[in-house]
Amino acid sequence: MIIRKSPDEIRLIREAGCIVAETLRLIEEAIKPGLSTIELDRMAEGYIKKRGGRPAFKGYRGFPASVCISINEGVVHGIPGSRSFKLGDIVSVDVGVEHRGCYADAAATFPVGDVSPDAKRLIEVTKGALEKGINMCQVGNHLSDISHAIQRTAEEAGYSVVREFVGHGIGLSMHEDPQIPNHGEPGRGPRLEEGMTFALEPMINIGGHEVKVLPDKWGVVTLDESLSAHFEHTVAITREGPLILTSL
Ligand code: MG
Repeated sequence: MIIRKSPDEIRLIREAGCIVAETLRLIEEAIKPGLSTIELDRMAEGYIKKRGGRPAFKGYRGFPASVCISINEGVVHGIPGSRSFKLGDIVSVDVGVEHRGCYADAAATFPVGDVSPDAKRLIEVTKGALEKGINMCQVGNHLSDISHAIQRTAEEAGYSVVREFVGHGIGLSMHEDPQIPNHGEPGRGPRLEEGMTFALEPMINIGGHEVKVLPDKWGVVTLDESLSAHFEHTVAITREGPLILTSL
């Protein structure tokens, strides 16, 4: 069942979303060569707690850290550890926050210094695919109109979308119905209604769409080791159009 939220609930989700957005900005400013992923994780956790939030991923199904950090061929769910950032890396960071019983979730891929033209283009296309998906978050559209817009943007650029991981409803818990694939035919699935709140999250690979899970049982990487990028926002469907709840 897709839970529709009241305007008051959407305001609360937005409060959680502000903490997410501020944390991502802090992360963007902090990422530099030599910094380790666990140091970045601790910095993010400290900030979220200072703002009165709780890192929603920590302990979720046993996830051991506060944020997910996935480098280069890393797609999602990377566990922070001793690995340090290097010039030319691209770093996908996923942040989820619970605040006053409401949840918001967002992700972005950041370049470490100067990155290759291929990496730059992948980041731009993935960000653009998320924007196209958000534009489809209109009352009366079908759920799969979002999926189709994301897939088309990725594939027109010559890239592929990851199938195994999907966007999701969010708000009163971290993962709610519906699942929102990043590929599919338009015009399918439920109609979008006012008060629905979704986390849209295209994961786009330069190479093939296939991925594998690392031996740590969390980290996901591209099977062909091509670069991958990930952008995510939490969005509310309103009569006035999509409202991004994880921007500053
Ligand atoms: Mg998510």
